[in-house]
Formats: sequence, structure tokens, C-alpha cells
Amino acid sequence: MTQPPDEPVPEWEPYRRPPKDRIRITETSCCGAYEWACQGGQFLILRRTPTGQYEETARGLYRHARPVWQALLVLHEDEHKRKARARIAASPKRRDRALPGNPAA
Ligand SMILES: [Zn+2]
Repeated sequence: MTQPPDEPVPEWEPYRRPPKDRIRITETSCCGAYEWACQGGQFLILRRTPTGQYEETARGLYRHARPVWQALLVLHEDEHKRKARARIAASPKRRDRALPGNPAA
């Protein structure tokens, strides 16, 4: 369950397209962490940096970009679970709450 992903972590680069290159964002992931976009017949994934800039990754064909998108969603979900477990572990009072993915013994 906690295997590291086999695929390399996608490389992010600053999004620097001129505004006249129209971009269409068609999906936004959980928490708005990532955005699935289409531009000039190519697909790409955007994310915001802490400074409010955009970065992009996986630009290209659907079949190239889509698996990266799905992997990012899984990683994001795992991050939620990890944080939830850490929060529960850090507060003994709430230990009676069910841990995600951990059936009661
Ligand atoms: Zn989220």
C-alpha cells in the first residue's frame, strides 16, 4: 500500500505561454491542487506555486499527459491520508476515530 510510485516524479517548469495562446481548463483536482488544461491541441497539467505563478508539466498528447494527471491525483489523495493519519497519531484523544484504510482490529 505504501509502495513508492514507479514512474518518475513529473518535472515542473514555469508556465510562460503568452496570454494570446488560449488555454482551456477543463478539470480541477481535489483542493484545486492541479488543473487539467488543453491548449492548441495539446494537453498539460498546471499547478500554482506558493508565489501565485503557474507551473506546467506533461505537455503533449492526451495519452502522454493523462497518466501523469492520474498519478498526481493518486499522490494527492495519499497525501491526504498520510496527513489524516499523522493528525490522529498526534492527538491521542482522537485515537478512537477510525483510521483511513485501517480496518478495526
Ligand atoms: Zn485535496
